[in-house]
Amino acid sequence: MSRKLLVAPVHLIDRKTVGEARRVLASAFPDFEVTPVEGPYIPEIEAYDGIRGQWRADAVAYGLAMWARRTHGCRDRCMVLGVSPDDGYVPGLNFVFGIALPLAGSAVIFTYRLRTSSLERYLERVRKEVLHEVGHLLGLGHCRVRKCVMSFSNSVFEVDLKTDKFCAACAARLKRLGVEVGQDHLL
Ligand SMILES: [Zn+2]
Ligand SMILES: [Zn+2]
Repeated sequence: MSRKLLVAPVHLIDRKTVGEARRVLASAFPDFEVTPVEGPYIPEIEAYDGIRGQWRADAVAYGLAMWARRTHGCRDRCMVLGVSPDDGYVPGLNFVFGIALPLAGSAVIFTYRLRTSSLERYLERVRKEVLHEVGHLLGLGHCRVRKCVMSFSNSVFEVDLKTDKFCAACAARLKRLGVEVGQDHLL
């Protein structure tokens, strides 16, 4: 039985961004059953910090996992990626582009800070952050290879420096975890 990866809209995210997330996942992880689901998932208002104007990333991701379980029966061998239009943070960081909770089987990308006047540049950033968070979800840590999609990004500048590909070491690690990476996403 193949692993299932649900792609869920969060709040009023546009279809184009969600579609891009679904496409890059299907291409990078050919053995996964990548399934778009209806939504949107609306995070609990408690996850919103009105003073910062930001969402607590871990609370959103945890709520998403519960929602996917309840609404879409996402349990064994099922994971969920949420695509949010919002700005996320965790305590200690001004913002995060995404978060992954491997134990809960969920990850979320926050696209607010990825936006720019170039649609192509924006979608490229979306692809990188989607693969980065799902990489974490599958068990990868951060990578020192600058071009590897698993390298840590503290700014959109750093997002632009990396690629949407896994380096040989990260791909080998995924392979040991039983995950095959598609050709177009190998460095
Ligand atoms: Zn990371
Ligand atoms: Zn790497």
